[in-house]
Amino acid sequence: MKDDYALVLNAGSSSLKFCVFERPVGERWHLESRGQIEGIGTAPRLSVKDEIGHSLVKKDVPAKDGSEAIAALAEWLRSMYGGSRVLGVGHRVVHGGARFSGPTIIDAEVMKELHQLVPLAPLHQPYNLAAIEAVFERLPNVPQVACFDTSFHRGQPEVAELIPLPRELREQGLQRYGFHGLSYEHIATVLPLFAPEIANGRVIVAHLGSGASMCALNDRKSVDSTLGFTALDGLCMGTRPGALDPGVVLHLFQGLNLSAKEVETLLYKKSGLVGISGISNDMRDLLGREEPAARLAVDYFVYRAAREIGALTAVLGGVDGIVFTAGIGENSPEIRQRICDASAWLGLEIDADVNAKVKDQTKISTSRSKAAVWVIPTNEELMIARHTGALLGLSAKAAWNEQGD
Ligand code: ADP
Repeated sequence: MKDDYALVLNAGSSSLKFCVFERPVGERWHLESRGQIEGIGTAPRLSVKDEIGHSLVKKDVPAKDGSEAIAALAEWLRSMYGGSRVLGVGHRVVHGGARFSGPTIIDAEVMKELHQLVPLAPLHQPYNLAAIEAVFERLPNVPQVACFDTSFHRGQPEVAELIPLPRELREQGLQRYGFHGLSYEHIATVLPLFAPEIANGRVIVAHLGSGASMCALNDRKSVDSTLGFTALDGLCMGTRPGALDPGVVLHLFQGLNLSAKEVETLLYKKSGLVGISGISNDMRDLLGREEPAARLAVDYFVYRAAREIGALTAVLGGVDGIVFTAGIGENSPEIRQRICDASAWLGLEIDADVNAKVKDQTKISTSRSKAAVWVIPTNEELMIARHTGALLGLSAKAAWNEQGD
Protein backbone atom coordinates (compact mmCIF):
# COMPACT_ATOMS: atom_id res chain seq x y z
CA MET A 1 0.00 0.00 0.00
CA LYS A 2 1.41 3.38 -0.93
CA ASP A 3 -1.60 5.53 -0.14
CA ASP A 4 -2.06 7.98 2.67
CA TYR A 5 -3.50 6.74 5.89
CA ALA A 6 -4.82 7.90 9.24
CA LEU A 7 -4.21 6.13 12.51
CA VAL A 8 -6.64 5.70 15.38
CA LEU A 9 -5.14 4.91 18.78
CA ASN A 10 -6.82 3.77 21.97
CA ALA A 11 -4.09 3.51 24.59
CA GLY A 12 -4.79 1.77 27.89
CA SER A 13 -2.67 0.74 30.85
CA SER A 14 -1.59 -2.58 29.39
CA SER A 15 -2.82 -2.44 25.82
CA LEU A 16 -2.55 -0.23 22.76
CA LYS A 17 -5.40 -0.75 20.32
CA PHE A 18 -5.15 0.74 16.87
CA CYS A 19 -6.84 0.99 13.49
CA VAL A 20 -5.33 2.02 10.20
CA PHE A 21 -7.70 3.76 7.81
CA GLU A 22 -6.47 3.99 4.26
CA ARG A 23 -7.29 6.58 1.63
CA PRO A 24 -7.03 5.12 -1.83
CA VAL A 25 -6.73 7.90 -4.39
CA GLY A 26 -10.11 9.13 -5.51
CA GLU A 27 -12.02 6.75 -3.25
CA ARG A 28 -13.41 6.97 0.20
CA TRP A 29 -11.55 6.05 3.34
CA HIS A 30 -11.80 2.52 4.52
CA LEU A 31 -10.51 0.33 7.30
CA GLU A 32 -7.20 -1.22 6.27
CA SER A 33 -6.25 -3.07 9.42
CA ARG A 34 -6.93 -3.21 13.14
CA GLY A 35 -4.87 -4.62 15.93
CA GLN A 36 -3.41 -4.29 19.36
CA ILE A 37 -0.36 -4.71 21.47
CA GLU A 38 -1.47 -6.50 24.62
CA GLY A 39 0.46 -7.30 27.76
CA ILE A 40 2.51 -4.07 27.76
CA GLY A 41 5.01 -4.31 30.62
CA THR A 42 4.52 -8.06 31.07
CA ALA A 43 4.41 -10.18 27.89
CA PRO A 44 3.81 -7.71 25.06
CA ARG A 45 2.36 -9.24 21.92
CA LEU A 46 1.31 -7.59 18.67
CA SER A 47 -1.64 -8.96 16.75
CA VAL A 48 -3.18 -7.38 13.67
CA LYS A 49 -6.00 -8.36 11.36
CA ASP A 50 -6.94 -7.01 7.97
CA GLU A 51 -10.30 -5.44 7.22
CA ILE A 52 -12.05 -8.78 6.81
CA GLY A 53 -10.56 -10.29 9.94
CA HIS A 54 -7.68 -12.33 8.49
CA SER A 55 -4.62 -12.36 10.69
CA LEU A 56 -1.74 -10.26 9.34
CA VAL A 57 0.68 -10.75 12.19
CA LYS A 58 0.95 -12.26 15.66
CA LYS A 59 4.28 -11.86 17.38
CA ASP A 60 6.02 -10.87 20.60
CA VAL A 61 7.36 -7.32 20.58
CA PRO A 62 9.54 -5.39 23.03
CA ALA A 63 7.25 -2.96 24.94
CA LYS A 64 8.07 -2.27 28.58
CA ASP A 65 5.79 0.78 28.57
CA GLY A 66 3.41 2.78 26.39
CA SER A 67 6.19 4.68 24.64
CA GLU A 68 7.92 1.44 23.61
CA ALA A 69 4.57 0.09 22.45
CA ILE A 70 4.22 3.09 20.13
CA ALA A 71 7.77 2.39 18.87
CA ALA A 72 6.87 -1.25 18.20
CA LEU A 73 3.71 -0.18 16.39
CA ALA A 74 5.67 2.38 14.33
CA GLU A 75 8.09 -0.34 13.27
CA TRP A 76 5.28 -2.62 12.16
CA LEU A 77 3.58 0.25 10.31
CA ARG A 78 6.84 1.00 8.49
CA SER A 79 7.25 -2.63 7.49
CA MET A 80 3.67 -2.75 6.24
CA TYR A 81 3.03 0.73 4.87
CA GLY A 82 6.55 2.09 4.24
CA GLY A 83 6.42 4.93 1.74
CA SER A 84 2.94 6.05 2.79
CA ARG A 85 2.13 9.22 4.69
CA VAL A 86 0.41 9.41 8.07
CA LEU A 87 -2.09 12.21 7.54
CA GLY A 88 -3.35 12.37 11.10
CA VAL A 89 -3.65 10.46 14.34
CA GLY A 90 -6.92 10.33 16.27
CA HIS A 91 -6.89 9.33 19.93
CA ARG A 92 -9.48 8.15 22.34
CA VAL A 93 -9.12 10.37 25.42
CA VAL A 94 -11.33 9.37 28.27
CA HIS A 95 -11.83 12.72 30.01
CA GLY A 96 -12.42 16.07 28.36
CA GLY A 97 -13.72 17.81 31.49
CA ALA A 98 -16.16 20.68 31.14
CA ARG A 99 -14.21 22.50 28.45
CA PHE A 100 -13.87 19.94 25.66
CA SER A 101 -17.34 19.37 24.32
CA GLY A 102 -16.11 18.01 20.99
CA PRO A 103 -13.05 16.57 19.22
CA THR A 104 -10.04 18.88 19.44
CA ILE A 105 -6.76 19.32 17.58
CA ILE A 106 -4.04 18.79 20.17
CA ASP A 107 -1.40 21.39 20.98
CA ALA A 108 0.72 22.11 24.05
CA GLU A 109 -2.04 24.18 25.70
CA VAL A 110 -4.62 21.42 25.20
CA MET A 111 -2.18 18.85 26.63
CA LYS A 112 -1.70 20.99 29.73
CA GLU A 113 -5.45 21.05 30.36
CA LEU A 114 -5.82 17.35 29.71
CA HIS A 115 -3.07 16.55 32.21
CA GLN A 116 -5.07 18.41 34.86
CA LEU A 117 -7.87 15.87 34.40
CA VAL A 118 -5.64 12.85 35.21
CA PRO A 119 -6.90 12.55 38.82
CA LEU A 120 -10.45 12.22 37.48
CA ALA A 121 -9.57 9.22 35.32
CA PRO A 122 -6.40 7.68 36.77
CA LEU A 123 -6.97 4.34 35.08
CA HIS A 124 -7.12 5.73 31.54
CA GLN A 125 -6.12 9.38 31.08
CA PRO A 126 -2.35 9.03 31.78
CA TYR A 127 -2.02 6.30 29.16
CA ASN A 128 -4.09 8.22 26.60
CA LEU A 129 -1.84 11.26 27.05
CA ALA A 130 1.40 9.25 27.03
CA ALA A 131 0.45 7.89 23.60
CA ILE A 132 -0.11 11.42 22.28
CA GLU A 133 3.29 12.50 23.60
CA ALA A 134 5.00 9.46 22.11
CA VAL A 135 3.50 10.24 18.69
CA PHE A 136 4.55 13.89 18.94
CA GLU A 137 8.11 12.76 19.63
CA ARG A 138 8.21 10.44 16.63
CA LEU A 139 6.04 12.38 14.18
CA PRO A 140 6.19 16.03 15.29
CA ASN A 141 4.56 17.31 12.11
CA VAL A 142 1.60 14.98 12.03
CA PRO A 143 -1.59 16.56 13.42
CA GLN A 144 -3.26 14.74 16.29
CA VAL A 145 -6.88 14.89 17.40
CA ALA A 146 -8.32 14.04 20.81
CA CYS A 147 -11.81 12.51 20.84
CA PHE A 148 -13.34 12.44 24.29
CA ASP A 149 -15.56 9.90 25.99
CA THR A 150 -17.27 12.74 27.82
CA SER A 151 -18.15 15.05 24.91
CA PHE A 152 -21.31 13.33 23.70
CA HIS A 153 -22.96 13.90 27.08
CA ARG A 154 -22.48 17.67 27.14
CA GLY A 155 -25.76 19.45 26.80
CA GLN A 156 -27.58 17.21 29.26
CA PRO A 157 -30.19 18.92 31.44
CA GLU A 158 -28.69 20.81 34.37
CA VAL A 159 -30.15 18.40 36.94
CA ALA A 160 -28.57 15.41 35.20
CA GLU A 161 -25.11 16.98 35.35
CA LEU A 162 -25.48 18.32 38.87
CA ILE A 163 -23.57 17.00 41.86
CA PRO A 164 -25.44 18.39 44.87
CA LEU A 165 -22.46 19.84 46.72
CA PRO A 166 -21.81 23.51 47.55
CA ARG A 167 -21.45 25.90 44.65
CA GLU A 168 -17.76 26.70 45.28
CA LEU A 169 -16.93 23.02 44.72
CA ARG A 170 -19.18 22.74 41.69
CA GLU A 171 -17.43 25.77 40.20
CA GLN A 172 -14.20 23.82 40.31
CA GLY A 173 -15.59 21.26 37.88
CA LEU A 174 -17.45 18.92 40.22
CA GLN A 175 -20.23 17.74 37.96
CA ARG A 176 -21.41 14.52 36.33
CA TYR A 177 -19.62 14.09 33.01
CA GLY A 178 -20.61 10.62 31.76
CA PHE A 179 -18.33 8.34 29.73
CA HIS A 180 -18.37 5.82 26.83
CA GLY A 181 -19.54 8.79 24.76
CA LEU A 182 -17.84 7.65 21.54
CA SER A 183 -19.70 4.37 21.78
CA TYR A 184 -23.03 6.10 22.41
CA GLU A 185 -22.37 8.56 19.61
CA HIS A 186 -21.75 5.68 17.23
CA ILE A 187 -25.01 4.00 18.25
CA ALA A 188 -26.88 7.31 17.90
CA THR A 189 -25.38 7.72 14.42
CA VAL A 190 -26.38 4.28 13.15
CA LEU A 191 -29.81 4.05 14.83
CA PRO A 192 -31.63 5.73 11.92
CA LEU A 193 -30.08 3.19 9.54
CA PHE A 194 -30.76 0.05 11.55
CA ALA A 195 -33.70 0.90 13.79
CA PRO A 196 -35.50 3.92 12.31
CA GLU A 197 -38.68 3.11 14.23
CA ILE A 198 -37.02 3.99 17.54
CA ALA A 199 -34.19 6.29 16.43
CA ASN A 200 -35.93 9.51 17.36
CA GLY A 201 -37.63 8.16 20.44
CA ARG A 202 -36.62 7.26 23.99
CA VAL A 203 -33.78 4.75 23.89
CA ILE A 204 -31.60 3.28 26.62
CA VAL A 205 -28.21 2.12 25.35
CA ALA A 206 -26.44 -0.43 27.53
CA HIS A 207 -22.69 -0.40 26.88
CA LEU A 208 -21.72 -3.55 28.78
CA GLY A 209 -18.00 -4.29 28.59
CA SER A 210 -15.19 -4.39 31.16
CA GLY A 211 -16.32 -0.88 31.89
CA ALA A 212 -20.10 -0.67 31.77
CA SER A 213 -22.64 2.12 31.65
CA MET A 214 -26.01 3.06 30.26
CA CYS A 215 -27.10 6.19 28.44
CA ALA A 216 -30.60 7.57 28.06
CA LEU A 217 -31.08 8.97 24.54
CA ASN A 218 -33.96 11.19 23.64
CA ASP A 219 -34.07 11.93 19.92
CA ARG A 220 -30.48 10.57 19.75
CA LYS A 221 -29.16 13.06 22.31
CA SER A 222 -27.79 12.05 25.68
CA VAL A 223 -30.07 13.22 28.47
CA ASP A 224 -28.53 11.17 31.29
CA SER A 225 -26.05 8.38 31.86
CA THR A 226 -25.03 6.13 34.72
CA LEU A 227 -21.40 7.20 34.91
CA GLY A 228 -20.78 10.54 36.54
CA PHE A 229 -17.82 12.59 37.75
CA THR A 230 -15.51 9.62 37.25
CA ALA A 231 -15.91 6.22 35.61
CA LEU A 232 -16.78 4.61 38.96
CA ASP A 233 -20.52 5.31 39.21
CA GLY A 234 -23.57 3.36 38.09
CA LEU A 235 -23.40 -0.26 36.96
CA CYS A 236 -21.24 -3.01 38.43
CA MET A 237 -18.11 -3.35 36.26
CA GLY A 238 -15.26 -5.83 35.86
CA THR A 239 -13.10 -4.27 38.57
CA ARG A 240 -15.13 -1.19 39.64
CA PRO A 241 -18.07 -1.29 42.03
CA GLY A 242 -20.50 1.09 40.37
CA ALA A 243 -22.72 3.23 42.57
CA LEU A 244 -21.56 3.19 46.16
CA ASP A 245 -22.76 4.96 49.30
CA PRO A 246 -20.11 7.69 49.78
CA GLY A 247 -20.17 6.77 53.47
CA VAL A 248 -18.38 3.56 52.50
CA VAL A 249 -15.49 5.62 51.14
CA LEU A 250 -15.40 7.68 54.35
CA HIS A 251 -15.27 4.43 56.31
CA LEU A 252 -12.36 3.16 54.20
CA PHE A 253 -10.40 6.28 55.16
CA GLN A 254 -11.56 6.93 58.71
CA GLY A 255 -12.53 3.49 59.97
CA LEU A 256 -9.93 1.35 58.20
CA ASN A 257 -7.22 4.01 57.81
CA LEU A 258 -6.55 3.13 54.18
CA SER A 259 -4.39 5.54 52.20
CA ALA A 260 -5.72 7.47 49.20
CA LYS A 261 -3.70 5.18 46.90
CA GLU A 262 -5.12 2.07 48.56
CA VAL A 263 -8.67 3.35 48.22
CA GLU A 264 -8.05 4.25 44.57
CA THR A 265 -6.71 0.76 43.86
CA LEU A 266 -9.63 -0.83 45.70
CA LEU A 267 -12.23 1.15 43.77
CA TYR A 268 -10.66 0.96 40.31
CA LYS A 269 -9.04 -2.47 40.32
CA LYS A 270 -10.37 -4.77 43.05
CA SER A 271 -14.13 -4.27 43.20
CA GLY A 272 -17.08 -5.10 40.96
CA LEU A 273 -17.16 -8.59 39.42
CA VAL A 274 -13.67 -9.48 40.63
CA GLY A 275 -14.35 -8.14 44.12
CA ILE A 276 -17.66 -9.98 44.52
CA SER A 277 -16.48 -13.27 42.99
CA GLY A 278 -12.90 -13.29 44.20
CA ILE A 279 -12.34 -15.22 40.97
CA SER A 280 -12.36 -13.09 37.84
CA ASN A 281 -13.29 -9.75 36.33
CA ASP A 282 -14.23 -11.46 33.09
CA MET A 283 -17.92 -12.08 32.49
CA ARG A 284 -17.38 -15.01 30.12
CA ASP A 285 -15.24 -16.71 32.73
CA LEU A 286 -17.80 -16.13 35.50
CA LEU A 287 -20.70 -17.40 33.40
CA GLY A 288 -18.89 -20.71 32.99
CA ARG A 289 -18.44 -21.25 36.72
CA GLU A 290 -20.51 -23.01 39.37
CA GLU A 291 -19.06 -21.37 42.49
CA PRO A 292 -21.69 -19.43 44.48
CA ALA A 293 -19.47 -16.32 44.57
CA ALA A 294 -19.23 -16.31 40.76
CA ARG A 295 -23.02 -16.63 40.50
CA LEU A 296 -23.51 -13.83 42.99
CA ALA A 297 -21.27 -11.54 40.93
CA VAL A 298 -23.34 -12.21 37.80
CA ASP A 299 -26.61 -11.85 39.77
CA TYR A 300 -25.49 -8.46 41.06
CA PHE A 301 -24.43 -7.34 37.55
CA VAL A 302 -27.89 -8.19 36.21
CA TYR A 303 -29.70 -6.73 39.23
CA ARG A 304 -27.88 -3.43 38.94
CA ALA A 305 -28.43 -3.27 35.17
CA ALA A 306 -32.19 -3.81 35.56
CA ARG A 307 -32.30 -1.21 38.32
CA GLU A 308 -30.58 1.39 36.13
CA ILE A 309 -32.92 0.61 33.22
CA GLY A 310 -35.77 1.41 35.59
CA ALA A 311 -34.14 4.67 36.67
CA LEU A 312 -33.40 5.81 33.11
CA THR A 313 -36.92 4.86 32.02
CA ALA A 314 -38.16 7.27 34.67
CA VAL A 315 -35.79 9.96 33.35
CA LEU A 316 -37.14 9.45 29.81
CA GLY A 317 -40.77 9.13 30.90
CA GLY A 318 -41.01 5.71 29.24
CA VAL A 319 -38.87 3.73 26.86
CA ASP A 320 -39.24 2.89 23.15
CA GLY A 321 -36.07 0.89 22.68
CA ILE A 322 -33.15 -0.74 24.43
CA VAL A 323 -29.81 -1.34 22.70
CA PHE A 324 -27.16 -3.75 23.96
CA THR A 325 -23.58 -3.13 22.89
CA ALA A 326 -19.86 -3.75 23.80
CA GLY A 327 -18.23 -7.06 24.79
CA ILE A 328 -20.91 -8.45 27.10
CA GLY A 329 -23.84 -6.68 25.43
CA GLU A 330 -22.88 -7.95 21.96
CA ASN A 331 -21.77 -11.45 22.91
CA SER A 332 -23.76 -12.77 25.85
CA PRO A 333 -27.29 -14.02 25.08
CA GLU A 334 -27.61 -15.09 28.71
CA ILE A 335 -26.94 -11.66 30.18
CA ARG A 336 -29.23 -9.98 27.64
CA GLN A 337 -31.99 -12.47 28.43
CA ARG A 338 -31.59 -12.07 32.17
CA ILE A 339 -31.58 -8.26 32.07
CA CYS A 340 -34.70 -8.27 29.87
CA ASP A 341 -36.40 -10.81 32.15
CA ALA A 342 -35.63 -8.60 35.13
CA SER A 343 -37.16 -5.68 33.17
CA ALA A 344 -40.26 -7.64 32.12
CA TRP A 345 -42.42 -5.14 34.01
CA LEU A 346 -41.70 -2.75 31.12
CA GLY A 347 -43.40 -5.18 28.76
CA LEU A 348 -40.09 -6.33 27.26
CA GLU A 349 -40.15 -9.70 25.56
CA ILE A 350 -37.28 -11.14 23.59
CA ASP A 351 -37.18 -14.02 21.13
CA ALA A 352 -34.86 -16.61 22.69
CA ASP A 353 -33.91 -18.15 19.33
CA VAL A 354 -33.04 -14.84 17.73
CA ASN A 355 -31.20 -13.77 20.89
CA ALA A 356 -29.10 -16.93 20.79
CA LYS A 357 -27.97 -16.33 17.20
CA VAL A 358 -27.20 -12.63 17.11
CA LYS A 359 -24.83 -11.57 14.37
CA ASP A 360 -24.16 -7.88 13.72
CA GLN A 361 -27.11 -5.57 14.32
CA THR A 362 -30.15 -7.63 15.26
CA LYS A 363 -33.56 -6.91 16.71
CA ILE A 364 -34.08 -9.52 19.43
CA SER A 365 -37.50 -8.47 20.76
CA THR A 366 -40.74 -10.14 19.70
CA SER A 367 -43.53 -8.24 17.94
CA ARG A 368 -45.44 -8.27 21.26
CA SER A 369 -42.68 -6.48 23.16
CA LYS A 370 -43.68 -2.98 24.33
CA ALA A 371 -40.20 -1.70 23.54
CA ALA A 372 -37.86 -2.84 20.77
CA VAL A 373 -34.70 -4.54 21.98
CA TRP A 374 -31.66 -4.44 19.72
CA VAL A 375 -28.08 -5.64 19.69
CA ILE A 376 -25.87 -3.21 17.78
CA PRO A 377 -22.07 -3.59 17.69
CA THR A 378 -20.25 -0.48 18.80
CA ASN A 379 -17.40 1.05 16.80
CA GLU A 380 -15.60 3.70 18.79
CA GLU A 381 -12.61 3.63 16.42
CA LEU A 382 -14.73 4.52 13.41
CA MET A 383 -16.18 7.44 15.36
CA ILE A 384 -12.66 8.66 16.16
CA ALA A 385 -11.59 8.23 12.53
CA ARG A 386 -14.56 10.25 11.30
CA HIS A 387 -13.93 13.06 13.77
CA THR A 388 -10.23 13.11 12.97
CA GLY A 389 -10.88 13.20 9.24
CA ALA A 390 -13.48 15.92 9.54
CA LEU A 391 -11.42 18.10 11.87
CA LEU A 392 -8.25 17.83 9.81
CA GLY A 393 -10.15 18.41 6.59
CA LEU A 394 -9.01 15.01 5.37
CA SER A 395 -12.36 13.72 4.25
CA ALA A 396 -15.46 14.99 2.62
CA LYS A 397 -18.69 14.78 4.62
CA ALA A 398 -19.85 11.16 4.97
CA ALA A 399 -16.60 9.92 3.50
CA TRP A 400 -16.23 7.26 6.18
CA ASN A 401 -18.15 4.11 5.60
CA GLU A 402 -20.55 3.54 8.51
CA GLN A 403 -19.32 -0.02 8.90
CA GLY A 404 -15.66 0.87 8.80
CA ASP A 405 -15.00 -1.38 5.89
P1 ADP B 1 -13.33 -3.23 27.14
O1 ADP B 1 -13.29 -2.76 25.70
O2 ADP B 1 -13.96 -2.30 28.10
O3 ADP B 1 -12.04 -3.84 27.62
P2 ADP B 1 -15.11 -5.22 26.07
O4 ADP B 1 -16.18 -4.37 25.48
O5 ADP B 1 -14.16 -5.90 25.14
O6 ADP B 1 -14.34 -4.46 27.19
O7 ADP B 1 -15.85 -6.33 26.96
C1 ADP B 1 -15.11 -7.25 27.71
C2 ADP B 1 -16.09 -8.11 28.47
O8 ADP B 1 -16.94 -8.80 27.53
C3 ADP B 1 -15.43 -9.18 29.33
O9 ADP B 1 -16.08 -9.24 30.60
C4 ADP B 1 -15.71 -10.44 28.54
O10 ADP B 1 -15.77 -11.59 29.35
C5 ADP B 1 -17.07 -10.13 27.97
N1 ADP B 1 -17.40 -11.04 26.89
C6 ADP B 1 -16.84 -11.17 25.67
N2 ADP B 1 -17.41 -12.18 24.99
C7 ADP B 1 -18.34 -12.73 25.81
C8 ADP B 1 -19.26 -13.82 25.71
N3 ADP B 1 -19.33 -14.56 24.62
N4 ADP B 1 -20.08 -14.07 26.77
C9 ADP B 1 -20.00 -13.34 27.88
N5 ADP B 1 -19.17 -12.29 28.05
C10 ADP B 1 -18.34 -12.01 27.03
